[in-house]
Amino acid sequence: MRKWNFSPGPATIPEDVLLEVQSELLEFNNAGISIMEMSHRTELYSSIAFEAKKDFIEILNIPDNYEVLFLQGGATHQFSMIPMNFSHLQGKPAYITTGTWTKRAFEEGSKITEIDQIFSSENENFIYAPHFKDLKIPEDASYVHYCPNETIHGVAFDHIPTINNPLVADMSSSILSEPIDVNKFSLIYASAQKNIGPSGLTVVIIKKSFMKQGNKALTNLLRYSEHSKQNSMLNTPPTFSWYVAGKVFKWVKKLGGLSYFKELNTLKASKLYQVIDNSDFYINPVHINNRSIVNIPFVLKDKKLEPLFLKESAENGLLNLKGHFTVGGMRASIYNAMPLDGVEDLIKFMDHFESKYG
Ligand SMILES: *Cc1c(COP(=O)(O)O)cnc(C)c1O
Repeated sequence: MRKWNFSPGPATIPEDVLLEVQSELLEFNNAGISIMEMSHRTELYSSIAFEAKKDFIEILNIPDNYEVLFLQGGATHQFSMIPMNFSHLQGKPAYITTGTWTKRAFEEGSKITEIDQIFSSENENFIYAPHFKDLKIPEDASYVHYCPNETIHGVAFDHIPTINNPLVADMSSSILSEPIDVNKFSLIYASAQKNIGPSGLTVVIIKKSFMKQGNKALTNLLRYSEHSKQNSMLNTPPTFSWYVAGKVFKWVKKLGGLSYFKELNTLKASKLYQVIDNSDFYINPVHINNRSIVNIPFVLKDKKLEPLFLKESAENGLLNLKGHFTVGGMRASIYNAMPLDGVEDLIKFMDHFESKYG
């Protein structure tokens, strides 16, 4: 029996999508073979891949002057690929560090080029994100890198800035959770295993004029423009993940698109934060206006009870609530595919656990 999966990633996938995949697994579309066994060069596979791209563009309302790429290597590979392509443009890139992932992006990027870290909340345990109007972005920064939603700390920016420099965002955990104005960005990247589908796939949305300026001395696999020329099939793409992602996009569209999910995600998150805020048994340290609507970390006032919370929650069909090992405590990741019912079951358990041990 399937249980509620609060994993941060690879995360839960809509059951409707899994059932459809199951029904097509042995033989896809009368082709006599599985989609996993099919060349990416066939007309049939190309049509699946192209349609997934088209649906993704429609869902996010991506303008024509942007390219969408389906790549590999995860968000982590983008930590290198972005500075390799764009750090030569002007002055040093500027990085904003609000959690583990942007810290890692800064550390990895620093191996490639000199980076100006213009903000870090590490000394305050990553419990908030700044406002862009309070940041000093050097005029000549080749690009500005930030993460709208830090998956591990549950810290989100409460605004999308308008800046003069190219804006680059790691949206691995926030993509498709709410509508965004793509026009404000030069590059958006996201690994798939949070809110898009199975791991192995990385989606990049890139402004075409920015892509053209990428470093031409790099090998093809490291160049966005080469991937674009080959329709993201420069080499064999992660065909199965791409196919499942396409089904998730159809599912998102069918349910009402990103405004529907923004409303649902906000509702799920506010219910969960309410339980945390109404008790002094559960604690979330993040500044209220920077609370994530998809990753909700919390600790118990009595830390000794945490292993018991994890054990009993799992026994009650609530899986993968353990916080990241660097942070400890608990974390509920409630992306699009987590229904309200799952969150309500978690809330019931939290109330029950508190009345038992609080
Ligand atoms: C999960 C995640 C990553 C790492 O993704 P990989 O696919 O493992 O490289 C990077 N950034 C954010 C914000 C994430 O949530």
